[in-house]
Amino acid sequence: MSTHINPNLNRRRRQLTVDDLFNSLRQGDISALSQAITLIESTNREDTAFAKAILSKALPYSGNSFRLGITGVPGVGKSTFIEALGIHLIKDQRKVAVLAIDPSSSISRGSILGDKTRMEELVKSDRAFIRPSPAGTTLGGVARKTREAIILCEAAGYDFIVVETVGVGQSETAVHSMTDFFLLLKLAGAGDNLQGIKRGIMEMADMIVINKADGDNKRAAQQAVREFKNALHVMPAKTHGWTTLVTTASGLEQQGITEVLNCITDFKNHSYANDSFKRKRDHQEIYWLHQTIEDHLKSRFYNQPDIQQRLTSIEKQLLAKQITAFEAADLLLGL
Ligand code: GDP
Repeated sequence: MSTHINPNLNRRRRQLTVDDLFNSLRQGDISALSQAITLIESTNREDTAFAKAILSKALPYSGNSFRLGITGVPGVGKSTFIEALGIHLIKDQRKVAVLAIDPSSSISRGSILGDKTRMEELVKSDRAFIRPSPAGTTLGGVARKTREAIILCEAAGYDFIVVETVGVGQSETAVHSMTDFFLLLKLAGAGDNLQGIKRGIMEMADMIVINKADGDNKRAAQQAVREFKNALHVMPAKTHGWTTLVTTASGLEQQGITEVLNCITDFKNHSYANDSFKRKRDHQEIYWLHQTIEDHLKSRFYNQPDIQQRLTSIEKQLLAKQITAFEAADLLLGL
């Protein structure tokens, strides 16, 4: 008898809690938002089901924000810059959420972005929400959680979402494919110059900001602007007709922040006018669908005990030239 009653009760209690949490989140309750994101990040089965329910409730209320991706090496001044930007935005009555994708959390457990106390001023504002990078074993997993966190933040009324990352592995591509505008922070001079820039990053950037353009650094920053402009000049134009802007800023002295926000406004006007804003978001949705399918298929395949057992011996056969890589794959895939 009790087996009949309990599941219903649980379901009702569960349902109530999903609704409660979601309603609090919708009213802008920061702790409800935090809790919901924690559920998304959890690997516990029950939490996952709970998180799914919250997400599907949040989905109709999502999408109404500007999503800004920011990348730059550790020490380039991301926290300081985002804080300056955030303070500017909240003065303008915007609500700002700062999320992060830290690939190092999956590689070394230590986190490049999350460990230090960051954005101390911004965090005090009730119009700001700052969340460190989720942990995860794969970048795909970390990115998925951040994408879902974006949906929750938007449903909670945040209309400006910043997703930051460091330029490690494919994390920049992940951030680029979940944001509307991609900003590359660079330093003038040695260590972070044009030569060291990864292929593809320049193409991804909608704006390049030479940061720390203050004090003795100003002249070098102007020189870096010229170099980046020249480099961009010889690159193919962006498909949606946007010209990447290069400028200087100082997060520390809060210089250049207005210019960055003006550039974002221009970009918005431009991409709304030619419909590329929506097209990019649609494209991102499709991309994440396929990405998620691929991740699932892959982990489902490799997690099969049979495959785990046979893989090592087939790898040995491969290295002993008893079999080609293609034959080996066919065998494991059962083709
Ligand atoms: P992140 O690792 O990219 O998040 O960089 P942080 O914002 O933590 O900054 C790294 C260091 O650079 C800190 O010591 C900051 O005080 C300093 N810094 C950040 N922004 C600026 C800036 O605009 N100008 C100068 N001169 N220093 C800065």
